[in-house]
Amino acid sequence: MSNNAEQALEKIKSLLGPKGWSDDREKIAPRLVEERGLFKGSSPLLVIPADTTEVSGVMKIAFDAGIGVVPQGGNTGLVGGGVPNGEIILSLERMNIIEDVNPIDMSMTVGAGCILANVQAAAADAGAYFPLSLGSEGSCQIGGNLSTNAGGVQVFRYGNARELVLGLEVVMANGQIWNGLQNLRKDNTGYDLKQLFIGSEGTLGIITRATLRLFPAPNAYATALAGCTSYDDALKLFLHARAKIGEQLSAVEVMDSFAVELAVRHIPNCRDPFNKKQNVYVLFEATSANPDAALNHLMEKVMSKAMEGGLADDVVIAQSESQREDLWRLRDAIPEAQKKEGGSIKHDISVPISKVPEFISRAIEIVKKEIPGVRPVPFGHLGDGNIHFNLTQPENADKQEYLSEWGRINALIHNLAVDMGGSFSAEHGIGLLKVADMDNLKRGDGLALMIELKKALDPTGTMNPGKVLNRPGAGPAKND
Ligand SMILES: Cc1cc2nc3c(=O)[nH]c(=O)nc-3n(C[C@H](O)[C@H](O)[C@H](O)COP(=O)(O)OP(=O)(O)OC[C@H]3O[C@@H](n4cnc5c(N)ncnc54)[C@H](O)[C@@H]3O)c2cc1C
Repeated sequence: MSNNAEQALEKIKSLLGPKGWSDDREKIAPRLVEERGLFKGSSPLLVIPADTTEVSGVMKIAFDAGIGVVPQGGNTGLVGGGVPNGEIILSLERMNIIEDVNPIDMSMTVGAGCILANVQAAAADAGAYFPLSLGSEGSCQIGGNLSTNAGGVQVFRYGNARELVLGLEVVMANGQIWNGLQNLRKDNTGYDLKQLFIGSEGTLGIITRATLRLFPAPNAYATALAGCTSYDDALKLFLHARAKIGEQLSAVEVMDSFAVELAVRHIPNCRDPFNKKQNVYVLFEATSANPDAALNHLMEKVMSKAMEGGLADDVVIAQSESQREDLWRLRDAIPEAQKKEGGSIKHDISVPISKVPEFISRAIEIVKKEIPGVRPVPFGHLGDGNIHFNLTQPENADKQEYLSEWGRINALIHNLAVDMGGSFSAEHGIGLLKVADMDNLKRGDGLALMIELKKALDPTGTMNPGKVLNRPGAGPAKND
């Protein structure tokens, strides 16, 4: 590391005081790897600022010294976006205050380091609802959720993170603070700047606070699991439910037969509620703020009509909260169950909803030809056309040898999704994992425009170098 960089690190330490930094190898180690162990990095310093002014001070020093900075939330991201490559790690964890919950304006203002589950709980305490919901909600942070434009199981009704934000505060690469916090439902004063930072994975600035949109809390639920003969039938069943249940339908999740089989095999208290194994399972949930909404009655009517029409072979409808939890457990268990079955090559693609069955059948044909014995585990958010087309290793295969096929298989499946009018990253983002796909598959002039924006907002490549875009002006880190 150059003298200049070393002096800058010392300046940062004295700015933050002893609570605000660590160079303890053991403390830093878990922050150098991501969830799936695909990437491992290095960093000389972890900084943990207490507030926006301190974030701004750190960024100014780093910018002037040409040191890269990687923002980190809960480090649950699945594409390596938070893994440093010699840069400083900036954790938002101390900025975890719920500042204000406003049930009249239906908004809440929170620090970027708030854990998502705490944000949901604070909204609920005020009698409102913050709908973002992910398997990682006990540890991911709202700043990370907004930076990745997170999706999850409620997107069908409420939209992804992008649609749940009214205002943001952001510290720019040079330390400048942009205060865009507001709780207006309407503001048509030119460019929507907050949307630049949402989904930019820390490459344009650091989100320090956010004003989020709230909704009426659900007081009635109807949850149903349907078994279908084919993905074509599953799609028809979804279209039927969407037409008949309308805006009260909030989640529509699809699970392949093998995904359910793995959940039942490996995860305690997971049970297939049907007497006969189904080919495709679809989980539906409808909710209403009105406690007297007869949602179960509606769900029963809709599902019996579907069975009469041959769209579903069998359906169960939860009759209690514990039965509802049982049905959701099956869906939530899939990623963990897959881990126990060996190596998994994973995809997070989207296609137009109408093409989900065709995508799954073509993708299965491709991978079975490429890796004989591979066991596809498609599941995900049918209502959004977002399928996690995951592939469990062939039985008795060598895990590492199988995982070495990750890039080659990803390229084939990402190409297929894009050829079908879809996207190679539906909700997890780009990070390091999909930078090459940005070069090869990003449509139109989008990439060139993104590079121009990056240069304008982060001219020296200080912010999260090498992530999302791997271009001059976008990184790599300047520290040595
Ligand atoms: C079990 C499990 C289930 C998951 N389910 C889903 C799912 O259903 N849908 C989904 O979308 N994702 C899912 N994820 C992925 C992950 O949880 C999300 O991407 C989440 O939004 C990341 O939040 P985080 O706080 O952990 O961010 P991190 O992993 O810490 O960071 C993610 C990216 O955001 C940047 N970043 C973090 N904080 C800030 C900030 N304050 N300002 C600027 N940049 C920042 C980082 O540099 C990095 O590029 C899941 C992950 C796991 C482990």
